[in-house]
Amino acid sequence: MGIIGAGIAGEVAAFFLLKDAHRVCLYDPGERRAQASWNSSGVVGSFGARAGFGAHGNLLSEALPCALAFYEGFDHSSILKTPLHTHGSPQDEKFLRRFSHLRPSSFSFPGLQSFWETGLLVDMRAFMGEIKCRNSLSPLCTRVKEYITSWEQVDDRHDAVLYAPGALRHLMALDDLASRPRQGSLLVWEGDFFRQSFHHDFYGLGSISYRKEHGKLMVGAQNGAGMTSLGHLGKALDLYDRLAPLCPEGPLPPFAKAKMISGVRELGVGRRAALNDLGRGLYSMSGLYKNGLTLAPFLAKKLVDSINIKRKGQGP
Ligand SMILES: Cc1cc2nc3c(=O)[nH]c(=O)nc-3n(C[C@H](O)[C@H](O)[C@H](O)COP(=O)(O)OP(=O)(O)OC[C@H]3O[C@@H](n4cnc5c(N)ncnc54)[C@H](O)[C@@H]3O)c2cc1C
Repeated sequence: MGIIGAGIAGEVAAFFLLKDAHRVCLYDPGERRAQASWNSSGVVGSFGARAGFGAHGNLLSEALPCALAFYEGFDHSSILKTPLHTHGSPQDEKFLRRFSHLRPSSFSFPGLQSFWETGLLVDMRAFMGEIKCRNSLSPLCTRVKEYITSWEQVDDRHDAVLYAPGALRHLMALDDLASRPRQGSLLVWEGDFFRQSFHHDFYGLGSISYRKEHGKLMVGAQNGAGMTSLGHLGKALDLYDRLAPLCPEGPLPPFAKAKMISGVRELGVGRRAALNDLGRGLYSMSGLYKNGLTLAPFLAKKLVDSINIKRKGQGP
């Protein structure tokens, strides 16, 4: 199986395929900043995972137990797995809509009541490193460090190909070359920084978000304890200046030049994740959007099942 894109979707699919003794070849230039996965906040969350709550809610509620079992069973000392709690009031209508299906948690914090268990927090850098390493150790796994722009780059001996290029796919497809993000330096949106929402997470240290709809920069937004502190530009710049040198991949470009390295979330991305069987051995995994950690193991298992069923149908 050829897999285009080695983010969580591609790597987890490879993981299950390799476990099932399939041979895989992962195509990816290997630039970490090209991936949402390495920069994700690590939340395997149950937000919106509610059956009867639309197609996406149904899918998430089906995927969540599979995801929790996958990460919980993924035992390695370098992978932080900690329960995720959210604080909120059961009197609040919005809160009820999102969390009423959850168990109240025994977690307590002075002055705050009503904590709810909302999932699991995973150290994504450790996790992605570990899963990539495990996959690479398999003699059945090969890697091609290339950005695929034509089918001729893909080995035509693959029985099947999974296309899992992540959310950046449509950005890459923009006609306007000048604003097209360059693979590798990634999502450099010059001149018009505040046009889009973004969320940048310096793993374990904090994060900066800009939400177009609120017109505000948020510092420390969306952390694991469900706390959000609203900040302003000065604060964000200060945080940025302090954190930039700690970034494991070298200094980031100055914030003032309106360049962001990762985590751009386009508004209006369709909220329907899917494993698509496109026929003739071509699959795609798309629309993981903000629930990639929850959806990837579930969709990967579906992929393996689908391939095995087809294989059986073909006979020996
Ligand atoms: C800041 C941030 C925080 C997030 N937090 C969470 C969270 O807490 N919980 C959660 O569930 N989700 C979270 N998400 C979303 C989650 O990260 C994504 O859903 C998930 O990473 C998507 O995985 P992916 O494998 O589809 O894409 P990616 O991780 O983006 O990987 C796609 C890969 O495909 C490669 N690629 C693309 N095109 C080609 C090509 N033509 N040829 C070869 N390779 C190609 C890229 O190089 C890249 O490596 C967050 C996202 C961001 C940005």
